[in-house]
Amino acid sequence: MKKSDLFTVLMPYLMGYKMNRWFGSDRFHPMTLTYSVTAACQSRCKTCQIGAMFCQDPTRPQKDLKLDEIEKIFKSMKPVYFFNMSGGEPFMRDDLPQIVELACKYLRPRVVHTPTNAILSDKIVKNTEQIIQIVRTYDESVPVTVKPSIDGVGEKHDAIRGVKGNFNCLLKTIEGLKKLEEKYDNFHLELGTVISNFNINDLEEIEDFVHSLGVESYRNEVAECRTEFFNLTDPITPPADIYQKLIKDFAKKVEENIGKKKKLARTTEAMRVVYYNIAGKILAEQRQVIPCYAGVSNVHINYDGGVWPCCVLGYDQEMGNLRDYDYDFQKLWHSKKADEVRKYIKGKNCACPLANQAYSNELLHFPTLCKAGVKAIQFSLK
Ligand code: SF4
Repeated sequence: MKKSDLFTVLMPYLMGYKMNRWFGSDRFHPMTLTYSVTAACQSRCKTCQIGAMFCQDPTRPQKDLKLDEIEKIFKSMKPVYFFNMSGGEPFMRDDLPQIVELACKYLRPRVVHTPTNAILSDKIVKNTEQIIQIVRTYDESVPVTVKPSIDGVGEKHDAIRGVKGNFNCLLKTIEGLKKLEEKYDNFHLELGTVISNFNINDLEEIEDFVHSLGVESYRNEVAECRTEFFNLTDPITPPADIYQKLIKDFAKKVEENIGKKKKLARTTEAMRVVYYNIAGKILAEQRQVIPCYAGVSNVHINYDGGVWPCCVLGYDQEMGNLRDYDYDFQKLWHSKKADEVRKYIKGKNCACPLANQAYSNELLHFPTLCKAGVKAIQFSLK
């Protein structure tokens, strides 16, 4: 993301969201689209039951949106800034590059991102290269990021992800993606950890390992109970006080290493450090510490065409299914049901530290944005 985009591209989106909150205006479009491309996943994570659901019922991905359906949906949408793919495991879809092509054609994203469980190493590297080339044919400056998950080092990773040999596949995937990083200047590899009760004592080890690999970008997110993950009663989220302490140490490390990062990475790290602080407070106080704009600034399309404000509320607060709206996103987005869901969120009936939503919320909360701005200036001087 270019710094200037905040004023030249994002500002009109942000104004639309404020007008909706203040005056009920309906002239707004999501700047962030997360699309769960498939219900299929080979992982059996302790923090997410999507893989277990797939194992119990392998026919679930038959409901995945087909390319022609996706095309109709994207065609009915306005441009988005961030295009995030999700799953299941995104790379289990053979036509993932074609999905990105449709996104580039109709949504013109300025950032393309996907996480991965890193199991299908060769396919991930091959399809990532295809995705990078597709994105470059539309705009060479659009960054593509792929984020393999690392929840532990060695066998600990395999135990949490529920797949023997996953860690070795992860190393192979990282090696292949690092080569792509050398080849394409718009491609970035980053690693991510889900902090749960299963790895709270291993974070330092994981972080040191990530640094030893020479991967510049590393982020972590707290394990959450989400309807998307079918894990609402699973004891996975660390206690708030422990998380706050971990995150304090993590933020300290980010500050110590900031001098080694590129200029743009310093701005995103500033947003990240502010996010960690907010996430800790949300866990401790169980309330929206700053107002949430899910279902306004961000939208989530599920594998079967369901439209959600966020993956945490997911199935519980579905705004509708695009298959029932003749694939017309605008019709669903401005429906009565979608407005009811927005009222529920505006009424602060939920709270969570969902990272990708929290970054949008930061941009929309002036005091928090100022804090991130001051942090970014401090980081740029280091
Ligand atoms: S606070 Fe969390 S659960 Fe509620 S709408 Fe925002 S992202 Fe979703």
